[in-house]
Amino acid sequence: MKEIHLVKRPETTPTNEHIQLVDAETPEQSEGEVLVKPLYISVDPYMRGRMSNTKSYIAPFELNKPLEGGAVAQVVESSHEDLAQGDIVTGMIPWAEQAVVPGDSVRKIDPSLGPLSPTLHVLGMPGLTAYFGLTDIGQPKEGETVVVSGAAGAVGSTVVQIAKIYGCRVVGIAGTEEKIDFLKELGADATINYKTENVKEALKEKCSEGVDVYFDNVGGDISDAVYPLLNKFARIIQCGAIASYNKPGDQGPRMQMHLIKSSALMKGFTVGDYQERFGEGLKRLSTWLQEEKLTYKETVTEGFENVPDAFFGLFKGENIGKQLVKVADP
Ligand code: NDP
Repeated sequence: MKEIHLVKRPETTPTNEHIQLVDAETPEQSEGEVLVKPLYISVDPYMRGRMSNTKSYIAPFELNKPLEGGAVAQVVESSHEDLAQGDIVTGMIPWAEQAVVPGDSVRKIDPSLGPLSPTLHVLGMPGLTAYFGLTDIGQPKEGETVVVSGAAGAVGSTVVQIAKIYGCRVVGIAGTEEKIDFLKELGADATINYKTENVKEALKEKCSEGVDVYFDNVGGDISDAVYPLLNKFARIIQCGAIASYNKPGDQGPRMQMHLIKSSALMKGFTVGDYQERFGEGLKRLSTWLQEEKLTYKETVTEGFENVPDAFFGLFKGENIGKQLVKVADP
């Protein structure tokens, strides 16, 4: 029997120096467990993160043990009361020709309902990622422009289609002409091959009314090219950052990775967005000032001729509190 182990943690792109096929004994099962043989194994970009020994939302893979991931498998032997030999299940399953898993950790699927493999994409984790990311965070509205990076992959291709269902104008970015053709078949209104086109220029041309929703699967330079086109109140779904996954040190994970790992929300604003509530804000501030709950400091430069220096000083940290210039007495 064979298993696939992580034998060395990759610093950059994983190769077979890091992941190896090894001989192993068929494991013994205990009460509540099942012996399964995988039918479909899903390989997913997030697994790269688990190969590094860093803190994340999911524990790192252990060295010299089988990798594991989403799979559809068949029960070979069962010591679990709800599962029988021959049942088809899905769950997190070790990369092995046969593996023992807790019966409670897998979900039985009914093969008569349709093909098995969509359980690992459109009807599984990537599909749910696309659906919740786009509809809940993206809040797409009819007529809006949705840009999708990594658009021809499992998540991206589902996003493109859901965005079309919502009546959006979809611009899909991918890395081969075959993928570009696929995006057109899915109904993308415009496409960009980021390997052969100037992404900045192409985005400007194809998002002439700006970008309302950016579903980001890749991060890196592609995202840097999208940001300047964001419309007021645009939504960014920071789903993935695959462009950084294999990059070490300073070139490695950018801000996007930290947002993903922490499920943090980043939202831009200008104070003018709150214009209708200015009255409420001023009332609170003046009350706090009167109650001496608030205080302030000023740095006052004298003389109109010193306005430029006062301004330059802001970038040299010369002010404490508010920098003002006193130009004349009343
Ligand atoms: P895909 O099916 O999209 O496969 C990966 C694709 O990424 C490749 O085919 C390639 O397409 C593209 N790619 C690879 N390297 C680069 C690069 N350096 N720059 C730009 N594109 C690159 O994978 P998934 O649909 O499963 O996942 C898509 C993204 O979503 C990943 O970043 C993944 O980590 C993330 N994800 C996040 C989840 C979450 O809960 N936040 C859940 C699931 C996935 P191309 O030819 O176009 O370059």
